[in-house]
Amino acid sequence: MFFSETFDVIVVGGGHAGTEAALASARVGAKTLLLTQSIETLGQMSCNPAIGGIGKGHLVKEIDALGGFMAQAADRAGIHFRVLNASKGPAVRATRAQADRALYKAVVRRKLETQPNLALFQQQVADLIVEQGKAAGVVTQMGLKFRARCVVLTVGTFLAGRIHVGLENYEGGRAGDPASNALALRLRELPFRVARLKTGTPPRIDGRTLDYSVMEAQPGDDPVPVFSFLGAPEQHPRQVSCFITRTNGRTHDIIHGGLDRSPMYTGVIEGVGPRYCPSIEDKIVRFADKDSHQIFVEPEGLETHEIYPNGISTSLPFDVQYALVRSIRGFENAHITRPGYAIEYDFFDPRDLKASLETKPMDGLFFAGQINGTTGYEEAAAQGLIAGLNAALKAQGRESWSPSRDEAYMGVMIDDLITRGTSEPYRMFTSRAEYRLLLREDNADLRLTPKGRELGVVEDEHWRRFEAKQAAIARMQTELAEREIRPNSPEALSLEPILTSPLTREARLLELLRRPEVRAEHLRDICPALAAVNDPQALEQVEIQAKYQGYIDRQQAEIDRTRRYEHWRLPEQFDYANVVGLSAEVRDKLRQQRPETVGQAARIPGVTPAAISLLLVHIKKLS
Ligand code: FAD
Repeated sequence: MFFSETFDVIVVGGGHAGTEAALASARVGAKTLLLTQSIETLGQMSCNPAIGGIGKGHLVKEIDALGGFMAQAADRAGIHFRVLNASKGPAVRATRAQADRALYKAVVRRKLETQPNLALFQQQVADLIVEQGKAAGVVTQMGLKFRARCVVLTVGTFLAGRIHVGLENYEGGRAGDPASNALALRLRELPFRVARLKTGTPPRIDGRTLDYSVMEAQPGDDPVPVFSFLGAPEQHPRQVSCFITRTNGRTHDIIHGGLDRSPMYTGVIEGVGPRYCPSIEDKIVRFADKDSHQIFVEPEGLETHEIYPNGISTSLPFDVQYALVRSIRGFENAHITRPGYAIEYDFFDPRDLKASLETKPMDGLFFAGQINGTTGYEEAAAQGLIAGLNAALKAQGRESWSPSRDEAYMGVMIDDLITRGTSEPYRMFTSRAEYRLLLREDNADLRLTPKGRELGVVEDEHWRRFEAKQAAIARMQTELAEREIRPNSPEALSLEPILTSPLTREARLLELLRRPEVRAEHLRDICPALAAVNDPQALEQVEIQAKYQGYIDRQQAEIDRTRRYEHWRLPEQFDYANVVGLSAEVRDKLRQQRPETVGQAARIPGVTPAAISLLLVHIKKLS
């Protein structure tokens, strides 16, 4: 039976990619349907109830800058906030929030239920409707057919998902949810390259059975950081501490003793796991010289006693999990509420995607999230936003958009995925970006909000606040650049306790702000424009731009140099046979991956700078 309405965009899956995709599509004005297995699990955090961290926090701020919801949800559900790398430069500072798992889900669901242009429907999708090689809708488990101009698949770890605890294994999308087998089979019939990955999660523990007195308390930051550019500390619920404990020699002996029943070490699991989030058994084998590993004891929420022991993700048999948990200091009487497990699932080679996240083999079909080989809520949400936005733009007959590597970490991630692919779960790090100084958390809005407004994903109130911030920054910068102070003037004398060397000549306030010891707030009494601003984000921005201007200018010059050919487009049917001098290997790689720009071509492993020169000569000749 066909559902009576036709949608512009159908998003399949209500995880982190799916919710941002559906919200972005709806914000752009596309008539959107979010179809998910269970409305109860919208916004569910499958693993650690935490948002952000190094590299990931940058993605969250970018999602926020483009009108997305993840940062706002974290502000409303976050029970422990910290800025990581706070003592380091602004480029690598990263916000992280421990969330109340239930509250986070509730906040996401409320947002989805109140979003104009968005409808929700609960059903498992079993098939795609394909017409003339194009995605034209989906078919659910009970045979309901839904039509749409574009379909976005965000089905996470559910495709042919198999859960492992020791040598026992069974079908599942994650603990408590069914796997998506019919859809997995259907997708395997289509011309996508598919492989298996795995990820894992630790056992959860009843916090009332832990001895916190022997653990190190880790309070959140004070003042409590805020995630969203539109957020405020008053939105946060009650804040709580985390704790730290460690594994020890006995824990490691117990794990060694269980390796012969580990699905990873007996070859039962074939999928590759996340390098940067290894299981405890993996850590003990790979880092055999380490006699202890840190465990962060993190609350799962304000209304539950369950805790998440971050650092002991495992798929060892339950009796080994039980013994290893009880060998840890403070965990001697621990009661496990849920066993740890690993999950194996299908993912699709992201080299089959365009930068818009539309698949190359099938027009109108978009993929976002874990299905593309990434791991993490933030990576999923960022892709979801881009895929949902582009699906809506396509449905409206508009041109697609995706940020470039010098505009956003989102751009770095998508470019890495589509040009290099991935053979292990991909997660974001600041080290993946070549223009780190420009891609900071603090300036994500300056980098992306104007573009978001132009595309239609940034709403009126957001835009009004952004413009006010920009105007405040401009006023402060103008006055700092113009106002001079003389040595021994009252202004200079008022600064003497702060300055490490006294003023010997007239200086503009901007020069003073470039000194490491001078903070923007020190200049408030002598600079009325600064005094008039009560937006800490705007003040921070003025200070960072002043102090790092030299480095930022150098990085910008480098970007301008490489931009010359980065965005030169390669037509979809470009014939590489006509490019004189290309090796057969390079030709094959370019044909197979069909890069959209010369920049993307240059980043395909094995495509040499010499090959790019030949390509450029050929394109110049053509034009
Ligand atoms: P998901 O959040 O998995 O959401 C998928 C959604 O699709 C769900 O709502 C599901 O119900 C729905 N769905 C699936 N199939 C269908 C269908 N056929 N029809 C309709 N709806 C469907 N990340 C880390 O960063 N670190 C970790 O340590 C980590 N460990 C993990 C451990 C486990 C056991 C699991 C399961 C995940 C772990 N993750 C970890 C990954 C993290 O949960 C994902 O990266 C993130 O949730 C991916 O978001 P997503 O939106 O792509 O998919």
